[in-house]
Parts: sequence; structure tokens; C-alpha cells
Amino acid sequence: MNRGMIVILSGPSGVGKGTIRKRIMQEASLSLAYSVSMTTREKRIHEVEGVDYFFVNKETFQQAIDHDALIEWAEFVGNRYGTPKDYVEKLRNEGKNVFLEIEIEGASQVISQYQAHDLITIFLMPPSFRDLEDRIRKRQTETEDIIQKRLEKAHREMTLYKNYQYVVVNDQVDRAVDEIIHIIAHRMAMNKGV
Ligand code: 5GP
Repeated sequence: MNRGMIVILSGPSGVGKGTIRKRIMQEASLSLAYSVSMTTREKRIHEVEGVDYFFVNKETFQQAIDHDALIEWAEFVGNRYGTPKDYVEKLRNEGKNVFLEIEIEGASQVISQYQAHDLITIFLMPPSFRDLEDRIRKRQTETEDIIQKRLEKAHREMTLYKNYQYVVVNDQVDRAVDEIIHIIAHRMAMNKGV
């Protein structure tokens, strides 16, 4: 049995990674396993420990960094997020393709550690910067100051698409989901030597 690949879905904040990820994970033929991240962020009301995230305190997160237990980690709007190493490698050894939905800084760390043939790296791009700004504003959960910071960060991040193997424009969710399913299926076939 071949070891599984690591699929990275990344892109600027607000581009819609979470929605697309949930749809892709429903596609049984791709034998995907979701990599549950560790975070210091507060649990939101609908979220489930061990399903959405492993919610930990700052000390536990720091210990994971010190013990080299994370493949990557990054700080995002005041909280830390990271991908547990053992969990990912265990799933890959079971032949599963491990799906990481992570922000761009962490994705760069994974890209620099693994060989290209072990990775499927997808950059989710908004149809325009204006569209991204609308999405970020529609969330209406943040102050103008935070919105401005997110927009500046997103602007810088948009230029990093060149580091990825695939760029998918999130113009329509159904279309973007189909494109990503095709990309993963194609790479799985190549991995098996079909
Ligand atoms: P949220 O707080 O909205 O769940 O996630 C905030 C951001 O952190 C999103 O862009 C999400 O993709 C990213 N993220 C979630 N888990 C990880 C992780 O393990 N590592 C990194 N680098 N980013 C993550």
C-alpha cells in the first residue's frame, strides 16, 4: 500500500476555505482524513473538541513546539494554530491522504519540509480583491481596525500563490469543489502509477 499524500488547502483569510473543505471531506472516493489542528483559540459554541480542533492552553501549545510535535504552526489574529506531526504520519501510514486546511504561513512551512510528490498544494484564490473585502466585511464580527489588518494581510498573501502546485478560483463553491476533487483524484491516480 502506498503512503498517503498531504493535501494542503490554503489561501487568504476570508476566501472560503472552511466551506470548501467541508464539501471536499464528504467525497468518499478520495480516502481523505482531516488533520485536526491544535489551537489556543477559544472553542466556539458549535465546535467539538477533537473534531474541529484540539483546544489547548498556551502552555500545552508551547510544549508541543518544544517537543517538535508539530509539522507547522503559526499565529493568527492573536491565537496559535498547529498541525500535530504524529497524527498526520499515522494516517499517511494507513494509506490515507491527509487534508490540511491551514493559513499561508503554516502552509509554507509544510511545503519546505516535504517532497513535491508527497504534497498536493492548492491555493484558493478569491475572484477579486473586492470580493474578498466584501466577504471579510460581511462577517461583521470585527472592528474596523481588525478588518483593516486582515485586509492588509490578505493583500500580501495574495501574491504567494506562486508557491503552490495548483491555484483554484473560488468564484462558485460547486465549481471550485469539483475542480479540487479532480485535482486530488488525478494525483491519486498518478501516485498509484495508473
Ligand atoms: P479559525 O479560527 O477561523 O478556525 O481559523 C483561523 C485560520 O487558521 C484559518 O485560516 C485556518 O485555515 C487556519 N488554521 C486552522 N488550523 C491551522 C493549523 O493547524 N495551522 C495553521 N498554520 N493554520 C491553521
